[in-house]
Amino acid sequence: MSLDDDSLAYHSDDPPGKIEIRTTKSTSTQRDLSLAYSPGVAAPCREIAERSNDAYQYTAKGNLVGVVSNGSAVLGLGDIGAQASKPVMEGKGVLFKRFADIDVFDIELDHDDPDAFVESVAGMGPTFGGINLEDITAPDCFRIEERLRERMDIPVFHDDQHGTAIITGAALLNAAEIAGKDLESLSVTFAGAGAAAIATARFFVSLGVRKEKITMVDVDGILTEERADRGDLDPYSREFARDVPEGELADAMVDADAFVGLSVGGIVSTEMVQSMAGDPIVFAMANPDPEIDYETAKAARDDTVIMATGRSDYPNQVNNVLGFPFIFRGALDVRAAEINEAMKVAAAEAIAELARQDVPDAVRKAYGDQPLQFGPEYIIPKPLDPRVLFEVAPAVARAAVDSGAARTEIDLDAYVERLEA
Ligand code: NAP
Ligand code: MG
Repeated sequence: MSLDDDSLAYHSDDPPGKIEIRTTKSTSTQRDLSLAYSPGVAAPCREIAERSNDAYQYTAKGNLVGVVSNGSAVLGLGDIGAQASKPVMEGKGVLFKRFADIDVFDIELDHDDPDAFVESVAGMGPTFGGINLEDITAPDCFRIEERLRERMDIPVFHDDQHGTAIITGAALLNAAEIAGKDLESLSVTFAGAGAAAIATARFFVSLGVRKEKITMVDVDGILTEERADRGDLDPYSREFARDVPEGELADAMVDADAFVGLSVGGIVSTEMVQSMAGDPIVFAMANPDPEIDYETAKAARDDTVIMATGRSDYPNQVNNVLGFPFIFRGALDVRAAEINEAMKVAAAEAIAELARQDVPDAVRKAYGDQPLQFGPEYIIPKPLDPRVLFEVAPAVARAAVDSGAARTEIDLDAYVERLEA
């Protein structure tokens, strides 16, 4: 059977779809039912009406994330609309549950208009401990997230932006370390100026890359001030416009220490990789086909090319599942009001640090006995490594406490023990 046939069978197997709701309390007696619903349910309602934070104690809010999309930029499928995006959003729910035991309501909204989308989501705060925005087209996604972050008192996190940025950031920290390059002097060329590229470039700046060392290229070439003055760039890509002559990707690659591709497949040539600085970092993350494939990039030069892609069949897969389940786990467990920059940096550092540790045999086995030792072919941990939960969630929780985003006290040592149990 082909993957497509297999997938249709998987999804239509009774019951259709991938998720269901289960109750977590006893419902076997009349007494149970009068506690679960009327009249007993009035007691927690009164408590929450008095102190709204008690919702975390008496309802499922604190372990519930809304995965919200309008289906306008779905995987490689594009604008397929809200209804057709539902399998993806259910799938995201599956990953939240599998990796961090977080429950998800997937919410597909029939709103192409960003204002209507914001109005719909802004009122959902009482239901959820956090909102994961998903697969929303750029530049709408930037404005939508900004406005929801202002209006909501729970984390609002657009994973296609920040999840990607955090994992790529972790990979960059380790790649730079291995290549002996300093983040402050690193010159980075981005292909793509969409949701993922803009967020990743912003995050690199948070990690210590200098903004003036970042060159961004979209389908029309280098983002320059001249293009910005011509009104050629939206307000978000304008942020990375540079005072340099206009040019193409090949021009922007010359002497670059790092290339980050979040654009389309096949646009980087052997010559472009050869034109880069020594021991170049090449993250070619367009899916399903990278900007340049692994073998071609590796073979382009005699020195070390530190390569990452979005694919599972090559080393160093930049896979968002390494981030969002654990970032939300940490945020929810301290009832965070937001996922701020400090929490994102803490997540990236924890992921990077974990890749420097020895890998347990069980994890190596799950990946076909690959060597998995810190170095050019292993700069980020593997998603099935259970230690990711134990390292990333507490790092995010700690950063939330230190940065004032947490709304509850937590004993971090006890928390780590609880996660490991
Ligand atoms: P997006 O918002 O549509 O952005 C795509 C960007 O690529 C746009 O800025 C577009 O430029 C640019 N582009 C298109 N053709 C180009 C070319 N020939 N040269 C240079 N730039 C070009 O999409 P996205 O969500 O940011 O995702 C971008 C890519 O990254 C996708 O392939 C996606 O699968 C991949 N991705 C991978 C990961 C991962 O590996 N974990 C995570 C996120 C995204 P214009 O704006 O001028 O059209
Ligand atoms: Mg996505």
